[in-house]
Amino acid sequence: MEAKKKSQANEKKEEERAALLEIWKYAFAFQPLAVLKCAIELQISETVERHGGSIALPDLSTALRCSPSALHRIMRYLIHHGFFQQTPTIPHQESSLCYTQTPLSRLLSKDGMAPFILLQSSPAELVSWHGLSRRVSANGVDSAARGGDAWERAAADPDHNKLINDAMASHARFAMSAIIDQHPEVFQGITSLVDVGGGDGTALRTLVKACPWVRGVNYDRPQVVSVAPLCHGVDQVGGDMFEMVPKGDAVFLMWVLHNWSDEECIRILRNCMGVIPKNKGKVIIVEAVVKEGEGEDEFSKIHLALDMVMIAHMEKGKERTFKEWEYLLNEAGFTKYTVKDSWNIVSVIEAYP
Ligand code: SAH
Repeated sequence: MEAKKKSQANEKKEEERAALLEIWKYAFAFQPLAVLKCAIELQISETVERHGGSIALPDLSTALRCSPSALHRIMRYLIHHGFFQQTPTIPHQESSLCYTQTPLSRLLSKDGMAPFILLQSSPAELVSWHGLSRRVSANGVDSAARGGDAWERAAADPDHNKLINDAMASHARFAMSAIIDQHPEVFQGITSLVDVGGGDGTALRTLVKACPWVRGVNYDRPQVVSVAPLCHGVDQVGGDMFEMVPKGDAVFLMWVLHNWSDEECIRILRNCMGVIPKNKGKVIIVEAVVKEGEGEDEFSKIHLALDMVMIAHMEKGKERTFKEWEYLLNEAGFTKYTVKDSWNIVSVIEAYP
């Protein structure tokens, strides 16, 4: 009896010790984002790449005009988290340290995920996170008090507009390549595709390059399409998807519906269904499909994080489970739909009138 009590007490102590260690992770949870922002601003990844993928600490600190000892500590932190590798691995030999790229550190470049990280760590986005509890509580701040909804705020601030468009483009490049690679049949037989809320047109540019038979219409708010890069095969059209959607064989909606309430999504989906051919048209939705409980997978953490982004920044938006997607599609009047997962964090839902 005594021994059992003792072992229970030890087990409890062990659990408490593990919890205390775990909580430190959260106490400093903001840090990885801050250090990545620092690495991106210093252009560490690009600099290592320019030096043939490998650079010694003294050369890196000269190139970046940084103090070698602070830079060494930043690199030590990054390396611990899988960004960059160092040779030799013997400690206390700072001057002979050489840094090389890893698949993760390559993503810290402009063509990787740097623009997305810069948006997430921007002062404007961080302000929203500070108001999370207010938004969850019943008397949450309404959008007028915040200077309009996310798109109105972007329209009023060209720098923030660019930050958003570039961030979306970095995700769009990876997501679209993954879909074209894994599910090329999604775009077969489509000659004209309207990307509703298409941002700066990156998804369509990636598509027409891979599938030159497709002509694209990139449809977004005027403030977005007016600064979008031009591309052969893609027309830029400005407008409001709640008012009108241009006609096409199919409509594409990536990371648009998660920004809106169920009622708004149903309105958008009905507008999209109204402009595609009844017999062979389809609406292609690219979004997260949240899996709960037993069904959780390697994407679940990211899906739940995205859902928090929706509360912090989008007010009415949310990430949806398959059941919730089904509800929207049924209410909008679609008769058939299929879901395809991809190796990216988004799935492809094809919905037919
Ligand atoms: N589909 C792109 C961008 C997603 S962000 C991508 O995945 O990269 C959501 C987009 O919806 C933004 O570009 C935003 O400007 C656009 N948007 C918001 N309200 C809109 C409206 N009323 N009409 C058209 N586009 C809108």
